[in-house]
Amino acid sequence: MTSAARAGGAAQNADVRRYQMYIDGQFIDAAGGETFEVFDPSTEGVIATCPAGGAEDVDHAVRAAQRAFYDDGWRGVSAQDRGRILFRLAERIRARRSEFAELETLNSGKPIVESEYDMDDAATCYEYYGGLATKINGEVLPVPADAIALALREPVGVAGQIIPWNYPLLMAAWKIAPALAAGCTAVIKPAEQTPLSLLELAREFEAAGLPPGVVNVVTGDGPGAGAPLVAHRGVRKIAFTGSAEVGKLIMRSAADQLKRVSLELGGKSPNIFFSDADFENAVDGALFGTFVNQGEVCSAGSRVLVQRDIYRKFIDAAAAKARTIRLGPGLDRDTRMGPLVSAEQRDRVAGYLRIGRSEAKLAAGGGVPAQFDKGWYVEPTIFYDVDNSATIAQEEIFGPVMSVIPFTDEADAIRIANATPYGLAAAVWTRDIFKAFRVVKALEAGIVWVNHMQPTFVEAPWGGYKASGFGRELGHWGVEEYLETKQVFINLDEKPIGWY
Ligand code: ADP
Ligand code: MG
Repeated sequence: MTSAARAGGAAQNADVRRYQMYIDGQFIDAAGGETFEVFDPSTEGVIATCPAGGAEDVDHAVRAAQRAFYDDGWRGVSAQDRGRILFRLAERIRARRSEFAELETLNSGKPIVESEYDMDDAATCYEYYGGLATKINGEVLPVPADAIALALREPVGVAGQIIPWNYPLLMAAWKIAPALAAGCTAVIKPAEQTPLSLLELAREFEAAGLPPGVVNVVTGDGPGAGAPLVAHRGVRKIAFTGSAEVGKLIMRSAADQLKRVSLELGGKSPNIFFSDADFENAVDGALFGTFVNQGEVCSAGSRVLVQRDIYRKFIDAAAAKARTIRLGPGLDRDTRMGPLVSAEQRDRVAGYLRIGRSEAKLAAGGGVPAQFDKGWYVEPTIFYDVDNSATIAQEEIFGPVMSVIPFTDEADAIRIANATPYGLAAAVWTRDIFKAFRVVKALEAGIVWVNHMQPTFVEAPWGGYKASGFGRELGHWGVEEYLETKQVFINLDEKPIGWY
């Protein structure tokens, strides 16, 4: 966070846009008047300022969300009408697709082509939950005679949602859309690095039919705005996507009030290549699995397990191809890898590159590219002969760093793949369908690909095993996180008790 004075200085530059947060249907500054700066990772220049929200702003937003839920009747809005609002949000994203994609790239650094896919995915997510809103129904249960038993589904109330900076508008969609489908109201905090696309979408909320207070966007950093949101007594449920470290803090804080929590945390996902896999596809799949979005992906396949008989050939081919990946500013259409999101993240990744050089052998990259004098770039990097117990094989790097590990046979691959505290994702590449399915069943991971890695559909569940968190987003699982289940027992016996 910078002081208001410093941000004020930057704001004198006409190109620096001044954003406000969105609470109770109004765009407003932080109660304390403080702001923070938002950067273009390709130039390191300030592009905007945002309010540095704190506990007072969080309280304002939660009260608005409570009022909208309990007093203003959001609970009573029909599922059909909630569905229509979600469809209108999707329409607005599709209508402003290029503008939103450019803003996303400007703020996050990611290639524009990837941002455009993200905008489509975000719109599809609102559409999916727009359709699902009218399919959330309870059950009538087959209990003995003289009673009817029902299970009703009801919204949990105000949801607090905290999202990361790697897929800003898409992660917001994964949170907002199911909450609204369930009938909840929400207070969402974007990451302090990338708040712009969500604030821009907030300009569409009223026109889409969202009443004031139903979705509130509070900007600020984790300790300043995220922590008070987790601790607020008016919040019934926290949905978080981010680091394992912060996930633990959130769970501890939420425990005080036994608040419901769903966590989508990191990973160190294995991408397993058997020697019978299609070789060209395998090399591409290893690079795409690790380097897409600069490797700033929770499901990055950053542990590449390669069978020994193709090991050397695989490393050579992957390294040769990695050197051809075109780095550059995200807004350049030919760019295939942009800068990392922040100086802090670049430094964090650079730290792992130093550790990697001492733990393993380097096949490609390994540093900060020389051709740029500005921008938080890191070369696509491949380490090999990595021991699975090495730091670069165990810790999530969240950057373009691949650790290649050899294995001998199927059992060896499974053992190495599961030897991590995490369990978010995994992939297996082979032409042998029996082997593929045996490995799929043996992997401890919430998402497993066969002969691909990374694409996912809104219809399918997303979330982790083990230290990668719990709860599932997307599909019908995603809406469960925002619903309570109420048992209703209706007695049909006119003299039901007769005990005393
Ligand atoms: P990173 O360190 O890569 O930025 P984080 O897990 O810290 O990843 O950030 C993910 C989200 O969690 C961001 O929106 C951030 O502001 C928020 N956050 C960070 N610390 C806390 C905290 N103590 N309480 C609540 N939210 C937090
Ligand atoms: Mg952090």
